[in-house]
Amino acid sequence: MSETILAAEPTIRLAAFLGVLLAMALWEVAAPRRRRDIPRVIRWTNNIALVVIDTVILRLSFPILAVGLAVMAEDRGWGLFNNIGAPAWVAVIVSMLLLDLAIYLQHVLFHAVPGLWRLHRMHHADLDFDATTGLRFHPVEILISMGIKLAVVTALGPPAVAVLLFEVVLNVTALFNHANIDLPRPVDRVLRWLVVTPDMHRVHHSVDPRETNSNYGFNLPWWDRLLGTYVAQPAKGHERMDIGIEQFRTRRDLWLDRMLVQPLQGPASGHALDPRITTRELGE
Ligand SMILES: [Zn+2]
Ligand SMILES: [Zn+2]
Repeated sequence: MSETILAAEPTIRLAAFLGVLLAMALWEVAAPRRRRDIPRVIRWTNNIALVVIDTVILRLSFPILAVGLAVMAEDRGWGLFNNIGAPAWVAVIVSMLLLDLAIYLQHVLFHAVPGLWRLHRMHHADLDFDATTGLRFHPVEILISMGIKLAVVTALGPPAVAVLLFEVVLNVTALFNHANIDLPRPVDRVLRWLVVTPDMHRVHHSVDPRETNSNYGFNLPWWDRLLGTYVAQPAKGHERMDIGIEQFRTRRDLWLDRMLVQPLQGPASGHALDPRITTRELGE
């Protein structure tokens, strides 16, 4: 069973990724939410080139990734679920919930620690918001994320199938909740109780630091609501809000070479604990 999951992983993930990316691209053409400011060719080529680089670096850096480690933990009896004999369906559901909570907390951490914000802000520096924005992460952030995920898998001992499902769902929801698509408002209102919608995540890409530092969830919207980081809508509205961060606002900044060196440039301002943001908030 575990060996089958491991063998099928690359095919399942690639098929889900390409299928959903294509579906979102078509949906964005058919029913866009916002007018584009930047020609698609600049952003798409650079964002997609970055995914290729990220994938190669990740494969070369880790001898084993999350699903492989879960298989190994099952074999060797590592982690919580490989020692308590819970029913398989409980282990799968609880593991997926806890992995999602871990990703949420990690995202908060990347906004709160200045050094980590330098890496993560590259995701926020995209000047338009569409499905390819969901792919835009600095390779060092990808490596740190994988390190954290491997630690969580070792401690939790989740079923390998839960980790594979979680990884596929996370890829698919990241493409969906960054998509520039116009979901009918009533659909968005209902759907955002179950999953992070594009309108919910777009708030997180607002240039206003108080909105940047909200809506950290990637899959489930519940953590933001439970932990007080939920903001329903951008103050200026979805059509008029500015996307990005205050630094890195030229078209040249959207090129791959510039993205890769952004963590080293300028001050780490705008992170969640930046006193200038908190004072501004208190002053109002
Ligand atoms: Zn973020
Ligand atoms: Zn995002």
